[in-house]
Amino acid sequence: MDNHLAEMTEAAKRILDTVPPSVTVVAAAKGRTPPEIEAVIAGGIRHIGHNYIQEAWESIPGFGSNVQWHMIGHLQRNKVTKAVRLFHMIETVDSIRLAKALNKHCAALDIVMPVLIEINSGREPAKTGVLPEEVHDFLPPLTDLEHIQVQGVMTMGPRFGDPENARPYFQATRQIFETLSISKIPGVRMHYLSMGMSNSYQIAIEEGANIIRIGTAIFGSRSEQGVDTATTPTHTGP
Ligand SMILES: *Cc1c(COP(=O)(O)O)cnc(C)c1O
Repeated sequence: MDNHLAEMTEAAKRILDTVPPSVTVVAAAKGRTPPEIEAVIAGGIRHIGHNYIQEAWESIPGFGSNVQWHMIGHLQRNKVTKAVRLFHMIETVDSIRLAKALNKHCAALDIVMPVLIEINSGREPAKTGVLPEEVHDFLPPLTDLEHIQVQGVMTMGPRFGDPENARPYFQATRQIFETLSISKIPGVRMHYLSMGMSNSYQIAIEEGANIIRIGTAIFGSRSEQGVDTATTPTHTGP
């Protein structure tokens, strides 16, 4: 096997060996080729995250049913028709309008889509997500939408060189998760807390994450061409 693919398979195995079995590892596959995605599946990965509908549309249909696909990028309403056909979970619901569009298209397919609410835990102007103080008003209207089911929350959080600095944002997100869990909003099942990336997933797990989204620690660093400027650090401190 191609050496760089073999390395990805090994990296996937290593990550899966180091995280508790209760934590779902989503391989963040933006800019990766289908053979690279195959390589991490060969390493045991069963959840793959995509940021872009176009990329997902081109690659997902070629895979079998042993993989679950997560939408982890910002979802535009005009892409919802495709998104509901491709994904098993939408992690980035951040507006009522998006939730309603998802609901409508899932109704047409007669499916119920698990969704997470994306929280902008760092209150970063350049990032999407619901602000922490707005979550409690955001959620109740979604419970009328019968074809989506809120199953948890997701956050990116500010990116730091020292992942210890991300801890307060993970703690704040966990707090929201806990509060929503005990507030017993009808129809909401708070199962998933999705946070932590390659440099921060251990800390995220310590703070209660049960979905982590890992890109570079599995696939290696991306070529200059594929670099997503949206994930470049924009924040210098809490
Ligand atoms: C790219 C990406 C990740 C993974 O980031 P790495 O630092 O490469 O692990 C996680 N979540 C989202 C939403 C991403 O876009």
